[in-house]
Amino acid sequence: MNIQSIRGMRDLLPNELQRWHHIERTLIDVTQSFGFRELRFPLLEFTTLFARGVGESTDIIEKEMYSLADRDGESLSLRPEGTASCIRAALQHGLLHNQIQNFWYRGPMFRYERPQKGRYRQFEQFGVESFGVPSFAAEAELIQLSAAVFDALGMRDALRLEINTLGTLENRRVYRQALVDFLTPHRDELDEDSKRRLDSNPLRILDSKNEKTRVLLENAPGFTDYLEESAVEHFESFKQVLQSLGIQFEVNPKLVRGLDYYTHTVFEWMTDQLGAQGTVCAGGRYDGLVEQLGGKATPGAGYAMGIDRLVLLHETLGGEFPLESIDVYCITMDEAYLSYAFDWCARLRQALPGRTIVLHKSAGKFQKQLKRADKSGAKMALLIGEQEVASNTATIKWLREEKTQQTLDFAALCKSLS
Ligand code: ATP
Ligand code: MG
Repeated sequence: MNIQSIRGMRDLLPNELQRWHHIERTLIDVTQSFGFRELRFPLLEFTTLFARGVGESTDIIEKEMYSLADRDGESLSLRPEGTASCIRAALQHGLLHNQIQNFWYRGPMFRYERPQKGRYRQFEQFGVESFGVPSFAAEAELIQLSAAVFDALGMRDALRLEINTLGTLENRRVYRQALVDFLTPHRDELDEDSKRRLDSNPLRILDSKNEKTRVLLENAPGFTDYLEESAVEHFESFKQVLQSLGIQFEVNPKLVRGLDYYTHTVFEWMTDQLGAQGTVCAGGRYDGLVEQLGGKATPGAGYAMGIDRLVLLHETLGGEFPLESIDVYCITMDEAYLSYAFDWCARLRQALPGRTIVLHKSAGKFQKQLKRADKSGAKMALLIGEQEVASNTATIKWLREEKTQQTLDFAALCKSLS
């Protein structure tokens, strides 16, 4: 039997990757233009990093991690998200203390979830983290950055922004108790997940997608009544920046995010076009997290975009992207001329950066090679035979509109291609 890929872990093929490349390039360019710089960290870390960084009682840690024992028995896990690793790396290299740092990262994340459209077990995230700024300005810039990314990808109109504040860690603690007090008498009406969360991570119940639970929550106490004044001010200033930037948002008091570490602002960008997997970007402020991971108290805020979902949305919206096409397809009349052809291809790539020059490498009937050249979608075939080698030229044959043919020296060839 043929070996297949693991469920929820996809192969991405060259044709679909053209759209990916466009989106990834846009993400990098826009993010770098805000002065954020790339940080890379391993796919594999000690499991304790995620347990401490993401939170013991989150879905991710309780049931979604890919963990394995190292040879010495130490538990390692494939990263389910990037923030914990990013902080671990920045701390390890002394990049956080008394500094303002803006990082971006990207790459695969791993979570054992039920695979469906827009939800995979290996998926790609593009994340940013901003350290050292305690004020609302950090979150405000994150929203401006994400909006700039969506503008550049032509998908801003298909997205809406929801925001909320969780206040300080202390506000959160008090509210959590109020929520537990409200829900405990209704325990039997909750779905199974929410019942479990009532003891471990009650705030997460607000996030429940279960219809019955949602109805019950309509009368639950709201976070707003539990916020201290400084937290309210933080949120108000944040909202004012968004308003002055003309970025529309909705305050959703039930928005809590799955991860444990958020304080103050949380936000999500979502779309109605991808069914239940509508959140394409999620983030917020996590002032306690650096300390929780062993560093000195450092304010931080960040978000992660799901690239798989950005790609799906871009496709749904009919978004365009540059085609990765072949400019020149070089074929030879005989293997004897291959080294001449190698040389011309190398010189062409050097003279015309950014162009794609393909050399047909297996000998065969000339007409067959020409058909290959045509099928490859190349704009032009470059023919090399005895006469061309003798006169230090090559013959070009345009393959698209007008199928003219011409024998040229190298300089003239470059000119005809530029
Ligand atoms: P969801 O509620 O959809 O499970 P989440 O709250 O678990 O998302 P985060 O951990 O905040 O998501 O990750 C940030 C983004 O990464 C999500 O908004 C989404 O776009 C993407 N993402 C998360 N999990 C997956 C997955 N299994 N497959 C594809 N993309 C994902
Ligand atoms: Mg999830």
